[in-house]
Amino acid sequence: MKIAVIGTGYVGLVTGTCFSESGNYVTCIDIDETKVRRLQAGEVPIYEPGLEEMVKRNTKAGRLTFTTSYADVIPDSKCIFIAVGTPMTADGSANLDSIWKVAESLAPLLAEDAVVIIKSTVPVGTNRKLAEMLKSLTGREVDVASNPEFLKEGAAIDDFSKPDRVVVGVSRPEVSDVLHELYKPFLRTEHPFLSMELESAEMTKYVANCMLATKISFINEMANLCERVGADINQVRRGIGHDQRIGFSFLFPGVGYGGSCFPKDVSALISVAHDREMEPSILNAVDQVNTAQKRVLFDKINRYFEGDLAGKTVAIWGLAFKPKTDDIREAPALVLIDLLLEAGVSNIKVHDPVAMENVKAEYGDKLSYFDHHYDTLDGADVLVIVTEWNEFRHADFDYIRHKLTQPVIFDGRNLYEPSKLKAKGIKYFGIGLSSEK
Ligand code: NAD
Repeated sequence: MKIAVIGTGYVGLVTGTCFSESGNYVTCIDIDETKVRRLQAGEVPIYEPGLEEMVKRNTKAGRLTFTTSYADVIPDSKCIFIAVGTPMTADGSANLDSIWKVAESLAPLLAEDAVVIIKSTVPVGTNRKLAEMLKSLTGREVDVASNPEFLKEGAAIDDFSKPDRVVVGVSRPEVSDVLHELYKPFLRTEHPFLSMELESAEMTKYVANCMLATKISFINEMANLCERVGADINQVRRGIGHDQRIGFSFLFPGVGYGGSCFPKDVSALISVAHDREMEPSILNAVDQVNTAQKRVLFDKINRYFEGDLAGKTVAIWGLAFKPKTDDIREAPALVLIDLLLEAGVSNIKVHDPVAMENVKAEYGDKLSYFDHHYDTLDGADVLVIVTEWNEFRHADFDYIRHKLTQPVIFDGRNLYEPSKLKAKGIKYFGIGLSSEK
């Protein structure tokens, strides 16, 4: 099948590449000329494990190409996936400008039997609005489908190739059949292909992300309470997780969720509720708890230094919003860095295995950057861990104690065993630990 994917970000590039891997002919379109030029040269502009190799393989086989030209691609495409960004506007709602721009570019070029599929996360009603817009621009009915994407950055290829489920929203069963055919190679393990109405598919994506965000804010609130009552969230987690109704997944305390999805999708659903004159109390609380949680590490450091951070040197391990990605959108590390700079810290020495270039582009010489995490420790007063990269899990505590002027670790991910650090003579502050009362 000939497929066009519009937008070559985390979702578009993975979608296009995985569809080409299963034998389709895919062209990815982006308006960013530099990005397209890099992709044409075999260079993948984002970090996603396994992606570069797969892009190269399919480009070489002639199944995957990149362009800025809609006109060269759209007239021959049966399925056109829209995977452009839908960022948060100042009022919290989803900004759909890019979707409407894409629709205008597509309309004059669409083949009679083309199906236009929105993969971007969009509020309820967007797909029907797109169908109306395409009808008024083309003078005929155009098939539109919703196909929300559930991949996780850092495991995107695996998630796309072996999805727990594929959700599509359609207004005609024939459109669902086309998409089912396309997804069959990814559903060989009998995971379901769920076809539903457009509105339910659109809503499914928001409800999924809001549920996950709720779990994170819930466990963070419980962790904060554990600290205050002298309980240990790690023990409590074990205590609750064996109950099969609760389970263990997505219940890790930390420094709040970030990334390009959870914060904006929670806000967008709050905005949708407000539009329908409903106050979404749970979502409001999820958002508030998360905003506060992003400050928690700073507050601990500030308390430790009794409010006097001026002139201090802080080492930070981990900047990306989660491991295995270079994405720093809404990353808790950035909130911490801003607060530290505001408080007059003189030197912030940072390391992240893949996200440093993105941080450098935002902070320039306000921070010092190091290729190895241990090199951040020279002259540092304290160490702060923000992202749980695997390489931080086993650390040389003797070396850390020797390097830091104050042997203190603030760990936003509870990577270490508090008693072990105590025995090494290192003060250890985690999230929700009984040792902190
Ligand atoms: P992104 O910002 O990484 O990429 C978007 C791309 O679209 C950019 O390369 C941009 O240049 C391009 N673009 C913008 N306007 C265009 C136009 N008119 N024509 C062609 N290209 C255009 O975005 P992303 O992270 O891939 O997210 C895309 C959508 O998928 C969002 O709605 C997001 O909520 C959703 N989503 C993201 C993830 C994720 O983990 N990143 C997961 C599931 C769903």
